[in-house]
Amino acid sequence: MGTTAEYDVIIVGAGPAGLTAALYAGRSMLRTVVLEAGVPGGELLRTETIEDYPGFEHIEGWDLAQRFENHARKFGAEFRNGGRVTAVRKGDDGIFDVETEEGDHLRAPAVIVTAGGTPVLLNVPGETEYAGKGVSYCAICDGAFFKGHTIAVVGGGDAAVEESDFLTRYAEKVYLIHRRDELRASGILQQRLKANPKIEVIWDTVVTSVEGDEKGLVHALRLRNVKTGAERCLDATGLFVFIGFRPNTGIVEAHVDHDELGYLRTDINMQTSLGGLFAAGDVRAQLTRQVTTAAGDGTTAAIAAEKYLAARRG
Ligand code: NAP
Repeated sequence: MGTTAEYDVIIVGAGPAGLTAALYAGRSMLRTVVLEAGVPGGELLRTETIEDYPGFEHIEGWDLAQRFENHARKFGAEFRNGGRVTAVRKGDDGIFDVETEEGDHLRAPAVIVTAGGTPVLLNVPGETEYAGKGVSYCAICDGAFFKGHTIAVVGGGDAAVEESDFLTRYAEKVYLIHRRDELRASGILQQRLKANPKIEVIWDTVVTSVEGDEKGLVHALRLRNVKTGAERCLDATGLFVFIGFRPNTGIVEAHVDHDELGYLRTDINMQTSLGGLFAAGDVRAQLTRQVTTAAGDGTTAAIAAEKYLAARRG
């Protein structure tokens, strides 16, 4: 039997956006709860080392996550871990009902969705095992670790082609592995790809496994040509997977404006088209998805939520 509890603000997701929103909401003395299915940290926990968060030239992802969490707790935010949210509904009285997998119902007039997104995985042996140890889903975050290396990128869309080009700033050689014989990436990106001597495309090919060395780091990939069935081994110390990214927005039951990929559209206050529902971080339609932008979004969302609540009280 689930429980029911009342708050001022419910934050769905404890990545950098959610933890920052929690810090600001807590500081504003709002009764704040953070719901997280797993351990707080979000994408930070997928990232071995972070070198682009101001003030930290080099910090491990789990360490920064812990600091974000401790800081939010210090200002009084309550955390409910293991509480996977299954639905967010707005009642006729303007109060949101947030339901969790355990059947709990949490109620608040303001909800900040910071549920992040999920990169589509290849689902091949070794991929999860070597995530953060050579396998990555973020070129900006991890590219610098591959200076002078030979690495591979999987995908044939804009993301894979654009990030292959970006990764040649660091890597000596980038193999772009695509399962078909033509790319779906836009013409301009394909032109850039062709003009880059460090990139070689491996057509009609899929990665069948990621192989590690005795240090537990990626050192090779097993490949299969989908037309001939021929198998081979490719020496590479990194594998960047760009085969799509899905925002975790399915929990919001009402219609909320979003872009063609499902990212929630907000105004400058991070408010969605549904009054009282705010979105911050990777769920939000925006130019880039970095720890810094997530923290900024979370700040704005919490401050805007406080103003929304004050206006509601009249
Ligand atoms: P996408 O356009 O959906 O492309 C995904 C690519 O991954 C496709 O080439 C697909 O192959 C391949 N793929 C899918 N599943 C696979 C699997 N299991 N194994 C191997 N390959 C697989 O995704 P995206 O590149 O992330 O782009 C998403 C959206 O963001 C697009 O609308 C894109 O235009 C936009 N975007 C734009 C820019 C830009 O304009 N600079 C940059 C990044 C993203 P097939 O082609 O065979 O289906």
